[in-house]
Amino acid sequence: MRPRPNIAAMSGYTPGEQPQVGKLIKLNTNENPYPASTKVMQAIRATTETALARYPDPHSTAFRHVAGGILGVDSEWILCGNGSDDLLTMLTRTFVGEGETLRMPNPSYTLYRTLAEIQGANVEMIRFNDDWSLPDSFGSSDGDPRLAFLPNPNSPSGTVVPMDGVAEIAERLPCPLVVDEAYGDFSDSNCIPLVSANSKVIVTRSLSKSYSLAGLRFGFAVAQPEVIEQLVKVKDSYNCDAISIAAATAALADQAWLADNRRQILSSRERFSAELSQLGFRVQPSQANFVWCTHPEHSHESIYQQLKSGGILIRYMSYDGWGDGIRITIGTDDQLDACLSELQKIVNA
Ligand SMILES: *Cc1c(COP(=O)(O)O)cnc(C)c1O
Repeated sequence: MRPRPNIAAMSGYTPGEQPQVGKLIKLNTNENPYPASTKVMQAIRATTETALARYPDPHSTAFRHVAGGILGVDSEWILCGNGSDDLLTMLTRTFVGEGETLRMPNPSYTLYRTLAEIQGANVEMIRFNDDWSLPDSFGSSDGDPRLAFLPNPNSPSGTVVPMDGVAEIAERLPCPLVVDEAYGDFSDSNCIPLVSANSKVIVTRSLSKSYSLAGLRFGFAVAQPEVIEQLVKVKDSYNCDAISIAAATAALADQAWLADNRRQILSSRERFSAELSQLGFRVQPSQANFVWCTHPEHSHESIYQQLKSGGILIRYMSYDGWGDGIRITIGTDDQLDACLSELQKIVNA
């Protein structure tokens, strides 16, 4: 067996735990705790009855039409993926070759590093400032980056680089800038308006979090048509299946569902953040469906372990050059109350 040396040397991406049994309260991978729109279930039922014998539409035309209408862009500006991770893969394949450089902030989404390693490319990590703003070097042409990824809102912090800041970075960068808006629907602002002004800006979105469809696998990118044209060449021909296209189209068409769900998550997030602060946590104000926090007196890894023993799963994260902390997904109010009461016991022990 002779895998390419860069594949042999890499360890691969480790997703958050997905226990397949048991009655855990799962607050570790930013899934939405509420069921998707009933329109989604109807679309899935109709598709399973009629459309499975044939190959799906390779261009997800129905979805792109609906999404374009909502976002105010033509459907040639949209490309669909098997989850937004699929789009991040296409982007890296298209722009970053062996020995070239991919830029990302740190701490952020560690999958970007894995994607670079698959290409045999170098990763340049630019450390966030202590207040989660970006240093000027993120937009620099030094080191000849071929692609830059910016999760916005960022994970694990839930913080946002405002649109004018992103525009300025994109102006200065010598390469495309992928604004990963997996959590964009929970935020006060987004960067879709920048796409028409600058062909270097590419926005990606996911239906996993804000539309409660993590199990379905659907995401999309918004970019100028000449960018989409290049990306299409590296995608799997049928990267989105018939069921996911129908379900995702129905989900986007139900914007009233999205608005209600968003209102609920944001209200739970504000209450939960305030109560964590009461328990002595330092809580980073979040624009996503999770919160990042640290505690000045307790071990974060031990908090994670103790919650897990009590049947509550959260995410413990440790980053080189930064430190560690915990990230907790906004679940239902009952789930968050259960988490708060365990945390209260832990910090008062
Ligand atoms: C969850 C997440 C994704 C992946 O979304 P999928 O559509 O489920 O593949 C991408 N980027 C970030 C920052 C995420 O947190």
